[in-house]
Amino acid sequence: MKLVVTGGAGFVGSNLIRLLLEETRFNVVNVDLLTYAGNRENVADLEGHPRYRFVHGDICDGGLAGELASGAAAVVNAAAESHVDRSIASAAPFVRTNVMGTQTLLAAALDKGTGRFVQVSTDEVYGSLPWADPGNRGAETDATAAAAGERFTEETPLAPRSPYSASKAGADLLALAYHETHGLDVVVTRCTNNYGPYQFPEKLVPLMITRAMEGKTLPLYGDGLHVREWVHVHDHCRGIVAALERGRAGHVYNFGGGAERTNHWMVRRIVEATGADPGLIEHVRDRPGHDRRYAVDATKAKRELDWTPSIGLEAGLRDTVAWYAKNRRWWRRAASGVRASTVARGAA
Ligand code: NAD
Repeated sequence: MKLVVTGGAGFVGSNLIRLLLEETRFNVVNVDLLTYAGNRENVADLEGHPRYRFVHGDICDGGLAGELASGAAAVVNAAAESHVDRSIASAAPFVRTNVMGTQTLLAAALDKGTGRFVQVSTDEVYGSLPWADPGNRGAETDATAAAAGERFTEETPLAPRSPYSASKAGADLLALAYHETHGLDVVVTRCTNNYGPYQFPEKLVPLMITRAMEGKTLPLYGDGLHVREWVHVHDHCRGIVAALERGRAGHVYNFGGGAERTNHWMVRRIVEATGADPGLIEHVRDRPGHDRRYAVDATKAKRELDWTPSIGLEAGLRDTVAWYAKNRRWWRRAASGVRASTVARGAA
């Protein structure tokens, strides 16, 4: 059975495809535009796998989307423009890929009778929860206990606050509208912040790990007390597969790791794990409209999909630091823009 995964040369997509090939019998077609964030090195180990094929292409291309959807049992849409800071600098690519690209895929899936459409989304569509560090303990705060309060459920009204999350919310609503209007078998997943191998070194965890390893300053937005609920990418991918296999059509599933931490806490742990100088931490001007706290209620995923996170944050973070230590060539090339994506373009 053919399964189309979009954005499979990115962070979540590449980890997802590896899991799909290990744990399911799908023939996986990976379609990726190979933007700055897409890197064929992320899936280099899969080249030559009998159930894997790479297509270099754009999800906004209706002709290609039709070809891909034709005969597909399912489409998992993990292609996206994904970095909030970039969406603040320029929102147009976000609207194009996240909204128009998703609509293009939905139309193709409907036209070709694709069995299931999984829209990989984010908890950021719910907006921001209030949070103040009660003890002013900064890096020492394990926000899981301290922040125990409101959490986003699947029924929480969408209130995105960045161009990135607004574009993702638009895509979610389109996907759910295709279910309501046309009966397309759509499932939407909304996961909290991921960390793990193959994450482009612009996001908090890999940025801090790689800068710490190079003895560079560690720029922390504002007071550093923004709270995120961290999930290892492998657990996120297990959730996507569960939603693909067992999710109810027209439903949304939240995935959360249960480990809420301030950004300051995360950076302090990275400093410890890399042996860097804590003096490298530097507070910089806050991101405009910076969401204060995200936290989800993932009981629906547990109840209906039998999904719970399996990797604890401390162990997962240690493994992630070890992965970046072992793969310096990968992240140096990715950050410098010299990636297999560019050299392999012709072969795609
Ligand atoms: P990423 O930036 O690492 O990867 C995105 C991939 O999409 C890249 O390979 C890129 O080349 C590809 N792409 C971009 N535009 C494309 C287009 N027009 N056509 C085809 N391919 C295109 O992002 P990620 O972190 O892997 O996120 C993937 C999805 O998971 C996003 O939708 C994001 O909202 C969601 N998500 C991510 C996280 C996280 O913490 N990383 C958490 C929750 C949800």
